[in-house]
Amino acid sequence: MREGIHPNYEEAQVTCVCGESFKTKSTKKEIRVEVCSKCHPFYTGQRRDTINAGGRIERFLKKYDMKQEKK
Ligand SMILES: [Zn+2]
Repeated sequence: MREGIHPNYEEAQVTCVCGESFKTKSTKKEIRVEVCSKCHPFYTGQRRDTINAGGRIERFLKKYDMKQEKK
């Protein structure tokens, strides 16, 4: 994550329907969610998505690096 792109990011209170609440950074001050890491085991699946996205960026950087080499 690059910093400085979203200067309005503040500490936000996330409240889950299960009653769990935690803090995160967001442009919104209050966020309501239907699932959180405590009440939904599938949450780990979202982590996998994050890893996939990271792989995409890695691939992009690799591509970019190759372009630079050619130049
Ligand atoms: Zn929850």
